[in-house]
Amino acid sequence: QTRVRFCPSPTGTPHVGMVRTALFNWAYARHTGGKLIFRIEDTDAARDSEESFQQVLDSLHWLGIEWDEGVGVGGPHEPYRQSQRGDKYQDVIEKLVAGGYVYEDFSTPAEVEERHKAKGEDPKLGYDNFDRDLTEEQKEAFRAEGREPVLRLRMPDEDITFTDLVRGEITFKAGSVPDFVVVRANGKPLYTLVNPVDDALMGITHVLRGEDLLSSTPRQIALYRALVEVGVAEFIPQFGHLPYVMGQGNKKLSKRDPESNLFLLQEAGFIKEGLLNYLSLLGWSLSHDQDIFSIDDLVEHFDVKDVLANPARFDVKKAEAINGTHIRMLEAEDFRNRLVHYLKAAELVSAESFDELTAREQEILTEAAPLVQERMQLLGEAPGLLGFLFKEDSEIVIADDARKQLKESAPQVLQAALDVLEPLDDFTAELIQNALREAIVEGLEIKPRLAFGPIRTAMSGAKVSPPLFESMEILGKESSLNRLKSLLA
Ligand code: GLU
Repeated sequence: QTRVRFCPSPTGTPHVGMVRTALFNWAYARHTGGKLIFRIEDTDAARDSEESFQQVLDSLHWLGIEWDEGVGVGGPHEPYRQSQRGDKYQDVIEKLVAGGYVYEDFSTPAEVEERHKAKGEDPKLGYDNFDRDLTEEQKEAFRAEGREPVLRLRMPDEDITFTDLVRGEITFKAGSVPDFVVVRANGKPLYTLVNPVDDALMGITHVLRGEDLLSSTPRQIALYRALVEVGVAEFIPQFGHLPYVMGQGNKKLSKRDPESNLFLLQEAGFIKEGLLNYLSLLGWSLSHDQDIFSIDDLVEHFDVKDVLANPARFDVKKAEAINGTHIRMLEAEDFRNRLVHYLKAAELVSAESFDELTAREQEILTEAAPLVQERMQLLGEAPGLLGFLFKEDSEIVIADDARKQLKESAPQVLQAALDVLEPLDDFTAELIQNALREAIVEGLEIKPRLAFGPIRTAMSGAKVSPPLFESMEILGKESSLNRLKSLLA
């Protein structure tokens, strides 16, 4: 059975690269009928935070990425936070020491540099494997000096070759990777040890992760081989490295780029359906001519071997367009309810959820939502498009660009509109439209484009608005007339 894992370190805010990794692991688990294990790699007390941890959970919950074992749900390999697994690592370290796979390194960085210099090499070359074969006496002497050794894994003196699920065969030449530290002098194991150890203990079959981790793979394979020898691991998993995600100007998208910040994307109004679709395209595609698909399509078709090795590009415009398509596909009521959060954030309505809105707010939103569903790419456009419907008449501010484009005929138009709307008993979109057309387009012989501009601006304060007559019906007669009068004044 396939067992994949998602194992973020809780630092910073969840970002696009991290979520893409979670998504691909999840999709692969679901596609193969396997399991997704969710582990937290919180071994770096200085950088990890509880807040970040919570944010990772929130982002997975929001996107609907569920795991089968791990933090919060439990499973046969508890605990799933590395900070609570210290005794397990201790046990493995003892086996590795006993088997001679790791050794004590007493050298200081200065000594390593000195040795490189003495050989005419670049002093910054890194560790030189000097302590590999110290005798017991030499070690005793170092200890007597008060030195505390780190533990290093002995890299094999041969090429390390593996078949990456995305990139094919990769070889790291013998000697190109120095023996590396797995346990600090204070006894604390490092990522280089605990990540593969946990993968082994948890029976992970496929390691799917970002390309930035490719350079650690030969070390992990070497460690894995040792783990197999000492009986901690049964097999070495397969590795697949997901391509880099590039941002603006073809630079690697950084965690700090705002367009990479998951919560900013959410606040801008990406819906999970749209974002998941777009994130899936970062290295994968359903077919060359189909950009739009559902999460079920992804699960049905996703295979790591189809992931492309070439860098993917995070294109905000394309992401927004895809999001717009998914917004249009939402059920009307679902769409309506999702707008509430954004209207609330802009202080246009009184509550976070539809059910808690006032009756009048519910009425406005229910009638107005269908007017904008077709024209939005981000839910965050809602306050701009619909705000005027929720505002008091006195709160309507005429935007500069809207005021500028008012023609000389505007006062005449507004007055004619007032005159014909005043006597209307039924204030419906259809009757409003007929009355205005008759009075202005036909009566005053003003072209429709110019005829309705001033009225639109009177209602919304802006150059554009959702369909005008429907908007006026929602506002009602009193508000509509008030607004015409204010612009006229
Ligand atoms: N905790 C590591 C990270 O966040 C994960 C490494 C891995 O997936 O192997 O980068």
